[in-house]
Amino acid sequence: MPELPEVETVRASLARDLVGKKVKLAAVTNGRAVRRHKSAKEFRALLEGHTIKSAERLGKYLIFGLDNANHLVIHLGMSGQLLRSKGPKDVKPKHTHVVISFVQGGELRYVDPRTFGELFVSVPPVEGAEVEISKFARLSIGGEGLRLRRQIPEIAHLGIDPFEDQIGWDRFAAILRSRSTGLKVVLTDQDIMAGLGNIYADEVLFAAALRYDRPAESLSTIEIRRLHRAIIEILTDAIKFGGSTLDDEQYVDPDGKPGTYQERHQVYNREGLPCFQCRQPIIRVTVRQRSTFFCANCQS
Ligand SMILES: [Zn+2]
Repeated sequence: MPELPEVETVRASLARDLVGKKVKLAAVTNGRAVRRHKSAKEFRALLEGHTIKSAERLGKYLIFGLDNANHLVIHLGMSGQLLRSKGPKDVKPKHTHVVISFVQGGELRYVDPRTFGELFVSVPPVEGAEVEISKFARLSIGGEGLRLRRQIPEIAHLGIDPFEDQIGWDRFAAILRSRSTGLKVVLTDQDIMAGLGNIYADEVLFAAALRYDRPAESLSTIEIRRLHRAIIEILTDAIKFGGSTLDDEQYVDPDGKPGTYQERHQVYNREGLPCFQCRQPIIRVTVRQRSTFFCANCQS
């Protein structure tokens, strides 16, 4: 499943050529991809004729600002891909559900074999309407996150985005001390932290030398600071390498190129292989039906 580094890679790539382009047509061939709308027609009507003004991200959501204060919001779900193409003559991959074409030429295609992802056009709340913003995100002291949540009620529930919401380690500490569940559960709960998933939570916890099942409230100040730093460092590094593409997953960037950060994973998908730090075999356990990888010697 694409996580923050993959979504950010897609955002940066699309920002380069979509901003300033005007949507000509939005062809929907699978209504499930636009399921928040009453009909595909409604989705089309909100998008066609509008120019893309910005490309942002919050958690795992891509957010394209339109010229009328609405936003095109895209979540890639488990297996979604956004692919650019020169035009209708390019062969459409199987499971292409939405094709957005532009007045200036070119197309953006949404491809998703499992169709857990979605696209929708969000209309800002009417003036004076109360948007319920995540109590964790409200701890933010800067960044673009709060503005995005106020404009887009559908994503207002998202917890802290490590880049778009600024919280110092002390506020991060307050969040952790309020949770008694294991660290991995806390880090991957999108209503607490937005953007981390199965892969990067494992990599972050290894970098911070903390076990997945450590109760969040039990961390010392030093451990909290280490975890806070590891989140930023691992995600920054993963973005630098274009995210991770695993054998069984579909993630590619808009040009169809896979990421290379999987070559740098310390624990994820390395069951039985020696830990790069201590040579003990990496262990895999199943937590909430998903694999967790860790080193029992290096993480405590
Ligand atoms: Zn180790």
